[in-house]
Amino acid sequence: MTSTTATLTGTAVELDRVTVRFRSRRAETTAVEDVSLRAEPGEFVTIVGPSGCGKSTLLKLVAGLVRPTSGGVSLRGRPVTRAQTEIGFVFQRAALLEWRDVRRNILLQAEMRGMERGAARRRADELIELTGLTGFERALPHELSGGMQQRVSLCRALLHRPPVLLMDEPFGALDALTREQLNTELNRIWRETGTTVLLVTHSIEEAVFLGTRVEVMSPRPGRIVRTLPVDLPAARDYAEVMGDERFDRLAAGIRAELGAAH
Ligand code: ADP
Repeated sequence: MTSTTATLTGTAVELDRVTVRFRSRRAETTAVEDVSLRAEPGEFVTIVGPSGCGKSTLLKLVAGLVRPTSGGVSLRGRPVTRAQTEIGFVFQRAALLEWRDVRRNILLQAEMRGMERGAARRRADELIELTGLTGFERALPHELSGGMQQRVSLCRALLHRPPVLLMDEPFGALDALTREQLNTELNRIWRETGTTVLLVTHSIEEAVFLGTRVEVMSPRPGRIVRTLPVDLPAARDYAEVMGDERFDRLAAGIRAELGAAH
Protein backbone atom coordinates (compact mmCIF):
# COMPACT_ATOMS: atom_id res chain seq x y z
CA MET A 1 0.00 0.00 0.00
CA THR A 2 1.40 3.43 -0.90
CA SER A 3 1.59 6.15 1.70
CA THR A 4 -1.05 8.14 -0.21
CA THR A 5 -3.51 5.29 0.06
CA ALA A 6 -2.68 4.88 3.72
CA THR A 7 -3.50 8.55 4.27
CA LEU A 8 -6.86 8.19 2.58
CA THR A 9 -7.92 4.96 4.21
CA GLY A 10 -6.01 5.04 7.51
CA THR A 11 -6.94 5.83 11.07
CA ALA A 12 -9.20 8.88 11.36
CA VAL A 13 -7.73 10.13 14.64
CA GLU A 14 -4.70 9.00 16.57
CA LEU A 15 -3.28 10.22 19.86
CA ASP A 16 0.00 8.56 20.70
CA ARG A 17 1.16 8.77 24.33
CA VAL A 18 0.02 12.36 24.71
CA THR A 19 0.69 14.42 27.81
CA VAL A 20 -0.49 18.03 28.18
CA ARG A 21 0.75 20.38 30.87
CA PHE A 22 -0.59 23.88 31.21
CA ARG A 23 1.83 26.32 32.79
CA SER A 24 0.94 29.62 34.33
CA ARG A 25 3.22 31.86 36.38
CA ARG A 26 1.95 30.34 39.62
CA ALA A 27 1.14 26.73 38.81
CA GLU A 28 1.56 23.83 36.46
CA THR A 29 -1.43 21.58 35.71
CA THR A 30 -1.09 18.20 34.07
CA ALA A 31 -4.40 17.99 32.25
CA VAL A 32 -3.86 14.66 30.47
CA GLU A 33 -1.12 12.12 30.91
CA ASP A 34 0.14 9.45 28.55
CA VAL A 35 -3.11 9.09 26.61
CA SER A 36 -3.19 6.88 23.53
CA LEU A 37 -6.39 6.70 21.52
CA ARG A 38 -7.36 5.73 17.99
CA ALA A 39 -10.57 6.17 16.09
CA GLU A 40 -11.04 4.30 12.83
CA PRO A 41 -13.17 5.82 10.04
CA GLY A 42 -16.88 5.59 10.88
CA GLU A 43 -16.36 4.82 14.57
CA PHE A 44 -18.27 6.68 17.28
CA VAL A 45 -15.89 6.97 20.22
CA THR A 46 -17.26 8.35 23.46
CA ILE A 47 -14.97 9.60 26.21
CA VAL A 48 -16.44 9.62 29.69
CA GLY A 49 -14.88 10.92 32.88
CA PRO A 50 -15.35 13.32 35.77
CA SER A 51 -15.35 17.08 35.32
CA GLY A 52 -11.86 18.53 34.89
CA CYS A 53 -10.22 15.24 33.85
CA GLY A 54 -9.04 16.60 30.51
CA LYS A 55 -11.84 15.52 28.15
CA SER A 56 -12.13 18.89 26.39
CA THR A 57 -8.35 19.05 26.16
CA LEU A 58 -8.37 15.79 24.18
CA LEU A 59 -10.77 17.25 21.61
CA LYS A 60 -8.77 20.47 21.40
CA LEU A 61 -5.64 18.42 20.71
CA VAL A 62 -7.37 16.77 17.74
CA ALA A 63 -8.60 20.17 16.51
CA GLY A 64 -5.06 21.55 16.75
CA LEU A 65 -6.12 24.16 19.31
CA VAL A 66 -3.88 22.75 22.07
CA ARG A 67 -0.39 21.37 21.45
CA PRO A 68 0.82 18.28 23.31
CA THR A 69 3.68 18.74 25.77
CA SER A 70 4.84 15.31 24.65
CA GLY A 71 3.48 12.64 22.33
CA GLY A 72 1.88 12.94 18.90
CA VAL A 73 -1.53 13.66 17.42
CA SER A 74 -2.62 12.88 13.88
CA LEU A 75 -5.77 13.37 11.87
CA ARG A 76 -6.31 11.07 8.87
CA GLY A 77 -2.67 10.05 8.95
CA ARG A 78 -1.24 13.56 9.01
CA PRO A 79 0.40 15.12 12.09
CA VAL A 80 -1.67 17.88 13.68
CA THR A 81 0.55 20.93 13.92
CA ARG A 82 -2.00 23.75 13.69
CA ALA A 83 -5.76 24.43 13.76
CA GLN A 84 -7.51 21.83 11.60
CA THR A 85 -10.10 22.50 8.93
CA GLU A 86 -11.14 18.88 8.30
CA ILE A 87 -13.23 18.76 11.46
CA GLY A 88 -16.61 19.90 12.74
CA PHE A 89 -16.88 21.02 16.36
CA VAL A 90 -20.04 21.14 18.50
CA PHE A 91 -19.87 22.70 21.96
CA GLN A 92 -22.19 22.62 24.99
CA ARG A 93 -23.49 26.06 24.05
CA ALA A 94 -24.85 26.38 20.54
CA ALA A 95 -23.10 29.77 20.04
CA LEU A 96 -25.49 31.02 17.35
CA LEU A 97 -25.55 34.57 16.02
CA GLU A 98 -28.76 36.01 17.43
CA TRP A 99 -29.51 38.27 14.45
CA ARG A 100 -29.22 35.49 11.87
CA ASP A 101 -31.98 33.01 11.16
CA VAL A 102 -31.47 29.23 11.27
CA ARG A 103 -30.43 28.86 7.65
CA ARG A 104 -28.02 31.79 7.77
CA ASN A 105 -26.47 30.54 11.01
CA ILE A 106 -25.80 27.22 9.29
CA LEU A 107 -24.42 28.96 6.20
CA LEU A 108 -21.94 30.90 8.34
CA GLN A 109 -19.67 27.86 8.03
CA ALA A 110 -19.77 28.20 4.23
CA GLU A 111 -18.96 31.90 4.37
CA MET A 112 -15.99 31.35 6.65
CA ARG A 113 -14.65 28.62 4.38
CA GLY A 114 -15.42 30.32 1.08
CA MET A 115 -17.56 27.36 -0.05
CA GLU A 116 -19.41 27.56 -3.33
CA ARG A 117 -22.80 29.13 -2.52
CA GLY A 118 -25.15 26.87 -4.46
CA ALA A 119 -23.59 23.67 -3.10
CA ALA A 120 -23.54 25.08 0.44
CA ARG A 121 -27.23 26.00 0.27
CA ARG A 122 -28.19 22.57 -1.03
CA ARG A 123 -26.19 20.93 1.75
CA ALA A 124 -27.78 23.26 4.34
CA ASP A 125 -31.24 22.23 3.14
CA GLU A 126 -30.34 18.53 3.33
CA LEU A 127 -29.08 18.97 6.89
CA ILE A 128 -32.15 20.99 7.91
CA GLU A 129 -34.25 18.05 6.79
CA LEU A 130 -31.95 15.45 8.38
CA THR A 131 -32.12 17.17 11.76
CA GLY A 132 -35.86 17.87 11.71
CA LEU A 133 -35.54 21.65 11.39
CA THR A 134 -37.78 21.90 8.32
CA GLY A 135 -40.22 24.80 8.80
CA PHE A 136 -37.83 26.67 11.11
CA GLU A 137 -35.40 27.92 8.44
CA ARG A 138 -36.36 31.57 9.01
CA ALA A 139 -36.61 31.40 12.81
CA LEU A 140 -34.19 33.39 14.94
CA PRO A 141 -32.23 31.63 17.72
CA HIS A 142 -34.31 33.18 20.53
CA GLU A 143 -37.42 31.60 18.99
CA LEU A 144 -35.93 28.11 19.33
CA SER A 145 -35.71 25.70 22.28
CA GLY A 146 -32.28 24.64 23.56
CA GLY A 147 -32.58 21.33 21.72
CA MET A 148 -33.43 23.07 18.43
CA GLN A 149 -30.50 25.43 18.87
CA GLN A 150 -28.17 22.45 19.25
CA ARG A 151 -29.60 20.95 16.06
CA VAL A 152 -28.64 24.17 14.25
CA SER A 153 -25.18 23.99 15.76
CA LEU A 154 -24.88 20.38 14.54
CA CYS A 155 -25.93 21.37 11.00
CA ARG A 156 -23.34 24.14 10.99
CA ALA A 157 -20.66 21.67 12.11
CA LEU A 158 -21.61 19.18 9.36
CA LEU A 159 -22.04 21.64 6.48
CA HIS A 160 -18.60 21.07 4.94
CA ARG A 161 -18.92 17.26 5.32
CA PRO A 162 -16.08 16.94 7.81
CA PRO A 163 -14.65 13.42 8.05
CA VAL A 164 -14.29 13.91 11.82
CA LEU A 165 -16.86 15.47 14.14
CA LEU A 166 -15.79 16.54 17.65
CA MET A 167 -18.54 17.01 20.23
CA ASP A 168 -17.87 18.50 23.66
CA GLU A 169 -20.77 17.76 26.05
CA PRO A 170 -23.20 18.82 23.29
CA PHE A 171 -26.36 17.97 25.25
CA GLY A 172 -25.07 18.75 28.74
CA ALA A 173 -27.26 21.82 29.20
CA LEU A 174 -30.50 20.18 28.02
CA ASP A 175 -33.28 18.57 30.03
CA ALA A 176 -33.30 14.77 30.26
CA LEU A 177 -36.10 14.13 27.74
CA THR A 178 -34.66 16.43 25.08
CA ARG A 179 -31.31 14.83 25.64
CA GLU A 180 -32.69 11.32 25.03
CA GLN A 181 -34.40 12.49 21.88
CA LEU A 182 -31.27 14.17 20.55
CA ASN A 183 -29.16 11.12 21.40
CA THR A 184 -31.47 8.98 19.26
CA GLU A 185 -31.31 11.53 16.45
CA LEU A 186 -27.54 11.83 16.68
CA ASN A 187 -27.26 8.04 16.37
CA ARG A 188 -29.28 8.20 13.14
CA ILE A 189 -27.36 11.20 11.77
CA TRP A 190 -24.04 9.47 12.48
CA ARG A 191 -25.20 6.38 10.56
CA GLU A 192 -26.49 8.45 7.66
CA THR A 193 -23.40 10.67 7.31
CA GLY A 194 -20.72 8.04 8.05
CA THR A 195 -18.73 10.65 9.99
CA THR A 196 -16.19 9.56 12.58
CA VAL A 197 -17.31 11.02 15.91
CA LEU A 198 -15.42 11.75 19.12
CA LEU A 199 -17.85 12.85 21.84
CA VAL A 200 -17.00 13.71 25.43
CA THR A 201 -19.54 13.50 28.21
CA HIS A 202 -19.79 12.95 31.92
CA SER A 203 -22.96 10.91 31.44
CA ILE A 204 -22.31 7.16 31.56
CA GLU A 205 -25.67 6.41 29.89
CA GLU A 206 -24.98 8.80 27.04
CA ALA A 207 -21.49 7.36 26.53
CA VAL A 208 -22.84 3.80 26.20
CA PHE A 209 -25.94 4.72 24.20
CA LEU A 210 -23.97 6.62 21.55
CA GLY A 211 -20.61 4.90 21.42
CA THR A 212 -19.31 2.02 19.39
CA ARG A 213 -16.53 2.20 21.95
CA VAL A 214 -16.28 3.95 25.31
CA GLU A 215 -12.99 5.29 26.68
CA VAL A 216 -13.12 5.82 30.45
CA MET A 217 -10.89 8.51 31.95
CA SER A 218 -9.55 8.91 35.48
CA PRO A 219 -9.74 12.20 37.40
CA ARG A 220 -6.97 14.70 36.67
CA PRO A 221 -4.39 14.09 35.42
CA GLY A 222 -6.64 12.34 32.94
CA ARG A 223 -5.57 8.92 31.80
CA ILE A 224 -7.54 6.31 29.92
CA VAL A 225 -8.25 3.65 32.50
CA ARG A 226 -10.54 1.40 30.47
CA THR A 227 -11.59 0.86 26.86
CA LEU A 228 -14.95 -0.85 26.35
CA PRO A 229 -16.31 -1.90 22.96
CA VAL A 230 -20.10 -1.51 22.89
CA ASP A 231 -21.64 -4.70 21.53
CA LEU A 232 -25.01 -3.16 20.66
CA PRO A 233 -26.39 -2.80 17.11
CA ALA A 234 -25.40 0.39 15.25
CA ALA A 235 -29.04 1.55 15.05
CA ARG A 236 -30.23 2.33 18.57
CA ASP A 237 -33.56 3.21 20.03
CA TYR A 238 -33.60 4.65 23.56
CA ALA A 239 -36.35 2.45 25.01
CA GLU A 240 -34.87 -0.74 23.51
CA VAL A 241 -31.30 0.01 24.56
CA MET A 242 -32.32 0.91 28.12
CA GLY A 243 -33.96 -2.50 28.51
CA ASP A 244 -30.98 -4.39 27.08
CA GLU A 245 -28.90 -6.27 29.63
CA ARG A 246 -25.71 -5.51 27.61
CA PHE A 247 -26.35 -1.81 28.23
CA ASP A 248 -26.77 -2.38 31.98
CA ARG A 249 -23.61 -4.45 32.17
CA LEU A 250 -21.52 -1.85 30.36
CA ALA A 251 -22.92 1.07 32.37
CA ALA A 252 -22.32 -0.80 35.64
CA GLY A 253 -18.74 -1.59 34.56
CA ILE A 254 -18.02 2.07 33.79
CA ARG A 255 -19.64 3.19 37.06
CA ALA A 256 -17.43 0.79 39.01
CA GLU A 257 -14.35 1.94 37.09
CA LEU A 258 -15.10 5.63 37.75
CA GLY A 259 -15.85 4.89 41.41
CA ALA A 260 -12.57 3.00 41.77
CA ALA A 261 -10.63 5.80 40.06
CA HIS A 262 -11.86 8.34 42.61
P1 ADP B 1 -12.90 18.44 31.24
O1 ADP B 1 -13.29 18.72 29.84
O2 ADP B 1 -12.76 16.97 31.51
O3 ADP B 1 -13.82 19.10 32.24
P2 ADP B 1 -10.59 20.13 30.64
O4 ADP B 1 -9.90 19.44 29.52
O5 ADP B 1 -11.43 21.31 30.33
O6 ADP B 1 -11.43 19.05 31.49
O7 ADP B 1 -9.49 20.60 31.71
C1 ADP B 1 -8.57 19.71 32.33
C2 ADP B 1 -7.74 20.50 33.34
O8 ADP B 1 -6.86 21.38 32.66
C3 ADP B 1 -8.57 21.36 34.29
O9 ADP B 1 -7.96 21.34 35.55
C4 ADP B 1 -8.49 22.73 33.67
O10 ADP B 1 -8.62 23.73 34.66
C5 ADP B 1 -7.09 22.72 33.06
N1 ADP B 1 -6.99 23.58 31.87
C6 ADP B 1 -7.70 23.41 30.73
N2 ADP B 1 -7.34 24.34 29.81
C7 ADP B 1 -6.39 25.12 30.42
C8 ADP B 1 -5.61 26.25 29.98
N3 ADP B 1 -5.73 26.76 28.74
N4 ADP B 1 -4.74 26.77 30.87
C9 ADP B 1 -4.59 26.26 32.11
N5 ADP B 1 -5.28 25.19 32.57
C10 ADP B 1 -6.18 24.62 31.73
